[in-house]
Amino acid sequence: MATLQHVCSAPLARALRSRAASLAPSTSRARLPQTDSSCVLLGLSEPELRQLALDFGQQSYRGKQLHGLLYKTKGKEIQDFSHLPQAFRNDLCEAGWRVGRSPVHRAVSAADGTVKILIKLEDNRLIETVGIPVEDDKGSFRLTACISSQVGCPLRCSFCATGKGGYSRNLKRHEIVEQVLAIEELFRHRVTNVVFMGMGEPMLNLKSVLEAHRCLNKDVQIGQRMMTISTVGVPNTIKLLASYKLQSTLAVSLHAPNQELREMIVPSAKSYPLDALMDDCKAYFIQTRRRVTFEYTLLAGVNDRIEHAVELAELLHSCGRGYHVNLIPFNPIEGSEYRRPYKKAVLAFAAALESKKITVSVRQTRGLDASAACGQLRNNFQKSPLLESAAAEPQPLPI
Ligand code: SF4
Repeated sequence: MATLQHVCSAPLARALRSRAASLAPSTSRARLPQTDSSCVLLGLSEPELRQLALDFGQQSYRGKQLHGLLYKTKGKEIQDFSHLPQAFRNDLCEAGWRVGRSPVHRAVSAADGTVKILIKLEDNRLIETVGIPVEDDKGSFRLTACISSQVGCPLRCSFCATGKGGYSRNLKRHEIVEQVLAIEELFRHRVTNVVFMGMGEPMLNLKSVLEAHRCLNKDVQIGQRMMTISTVGVPNTIKLLASYKLQSTLAVSLHAPNQELREMIVPSAKSYPLDALMDDCKAYFIQTRRRVTFEYTLLAGVNDRIEHAVELAELLHSCGRGYHVNLIPFNPIEGSEYRRPYKKAVLAFAAALESKKITVSVRQTRGLDASAACGQLRNNFQKSPLLESAAAEPQPLPI
């Protein structure tokens, strides 16, 4: 990155903001403050922060200090970085730099320890992030952050609360990273696993997702193998992702064993036939040697019959090896025509797959009492349709 690209003068930043405002159409959404992410510290690597320090006439080690303050101390305001000289802090602020952290608007906890939070972005839009604590049989503790990549989602899968809530915009790199830091603060514990399975389709915002992935790996120090990128399938993006040879898991949301049923559940499947999707998954495995996980939401009476399981097994076997199926019993959402299958049906589906030598797991439903389905909590708070509605806010449960 060229040296001076980092240095945002206040006049320049103001000019960019006013230009962005002047280009916006005159709807109520356009009256939101515009977000300028070019002077945000969060998301920058240590070499970039060292360079930034040099650009401001500081010694390089001040950049290393900045790195620790952002990712370890998790400071939110530049003026709070008391390890840095006051003059450096002032210079950063005057040049338009900011940390890039947003406040937690609401937090709702479930009886099983799952906590769902709403983060209020600079333009007042709300995004959902979930912290899922798990203690396994051996007593080791995992904390998974389920993070969003977009404000809402344009793909409108028929069973999804986020899809029903509409779409606003892509998240920026720092808005993705800050979700993990917010979960760490809330639990006072390091996040061990990250799944890009919150609001939005990560492949429609792949640039920011990959930048955030790098930051979470290198700066926040979460292993690549501890991260999962989920997609419902966007043409040409799986091949692109494979070219990065990440050690993270690719999770493909399948939800149906044939094209006709899939189009009914996932309308965007019309533009990405199942054959093409499976070919891309096969190529992904060959190129990365990383097993692909297929997510399959079980909808009672729709896609949960034994013949569906048999068809799914045949589909996977026709595409070679290296696959795993994760079954997700549907989480009921308000206004949905779908129902959650009985446990007996879920177990029978899993057994039918296993009998065909497909490895299967059944996702344990977490936080059912905290609006567990993706997008549900935000929709409760944000009915109209993407901005906060003060009148609609329920009181949060204590954490
Ligand atoms: S399931 Fe995922 S891709 Fe489909 S509408 Fe919901 S957030 Fe979007």
